[in-house]
Amino acid sequence: MKKDIYVTRSSMPTYEEYCEAIKPLWESRWLTNMGQYHQELEQKLKEYLEVPEVSLTVNGHMALELAIQSFGFSEGSEVITTPFTFISTTHAIVRNRLQPVFCDVKESDGTIDETKIEELITPKTVAILPVHVYGHICNVEAIQQIADKYGLKVIYDAAHAFGEKYNGVGVANFGDASIFSFHATKVFNTIEGGAVCSKNHEIYEKLYNLKNFGIRGEELVASVGANAKMNEFCAIMGLLNLKHLSESITDRKRVHEEYCGALTGVNGIKVFDMEDCSITRNYAYFPILIDENYSLSRDELYNKLAENGIHVRKYFYPATADQACFKNLYKNVELNYARELVKKVLVLPIYEGMSQEDISRVIDTIIQ
Ligand SMILES: *Cc1c(COP(=O)(O)O)cnc(C)c1O
Repeated sequence: MKKDIYVTRSSMPTYEEYCEAIKPLWESRWLTNMGQYHQELEQKLKEYLEVPEVSLTVNGHMALELAIQSFGFSEGSEVITTPFTFISTTHAIVRNRLQPVFCDVKESDGTIDETKIEELITPKTVAILPVHVYGHICNVEAIQQIADKYGLKVIYDAAHAFGEKYNGVGVANFGDASIFSFHATKVFNTIEGGAVCSKNHEIYEKLYNLKNFGIRGEELVASVGANAKMNEFCAIMGLLNLKHLSESITDRKRVHEEYCGALTGVNGIKVFDMEDCSITRNYAYFPILIDENYSLSRDELYNKLAENGIHVRKYFYPATADQACFKNLYKNVELNYARELVKKVLVLPIYEGMSQEDISRVIDTIIQ
């Protein structure tokens, strides 16, 4: 029996490297509460992402929840968002007592269809929350134009787009805030972790309060806040993974190119067009779309791969608007392309260090 291949595998420093790096914590006994490594990682990420403000959090979901909260929208306000995403995006809106208004996505890349946003705006709309899904960058210019015209905030869920650039500009510079996830399964990980990026120091300060109980002094609690800080062990993991990130991305690119070469042109399989050279990519995911010209249905291929020990994922099925917890609760909008995409998509295994043999096994199983 051949070994199983999973959709991803966490990038890690060597065991020795990590052990060496965490040693000082046994001296200082300073394990969390915005310690030295938390500060250092915020600084390094500001440089890497070329963004003015980075606030680290315990995970990507809390980054998004608190980023939304930092704008202080009034309860019941509407947020225009995409249903073609991980459930976290929609949860973060709803848990802020806001109403998600789902907007359809583009067939070309799965990001929010900017031409359909304006018709969804009402007097209750306060923000647009798009997702750079699979690292495909949204039409940031058009979205900003709409936001400016109607006085809306733009918050990007950039969980898939860590380190990407659009026309040479770090992706977190677009909109009023962007969040990243540093979950173990993401391109860059801190085991669990996340960050909110913004251009505005006021947002950074608000997040500082929101992630640490609003504590501003030994006897001063300035505002109501949660606990969503990143600890020092995670920050150190991040500092080490960041050092190796460019090699890691280069290696993912190798896998990406192998897949592209072998699968482009296969009857019934669509590979997203990645020719757009305005985007510097991170090769986080390799989604393919299976249509009726393929010999098997999407689910049959999923099962066939699983029988061969290859565990691909239906990221993201069903659309979040159609999940049990949200179905029929919100404004009924036509989501034709989103509902098409979720039925066709499979995300193939891609990670640093994926062997040639494993890549071939995936390709051969699909082509056979
Ligand atoms: C991973 C992910 C999140 C949540 O991040 P966590 O770090 O797992 O909390 C949010 N949105 C998207 C699109 C994601 O892929």
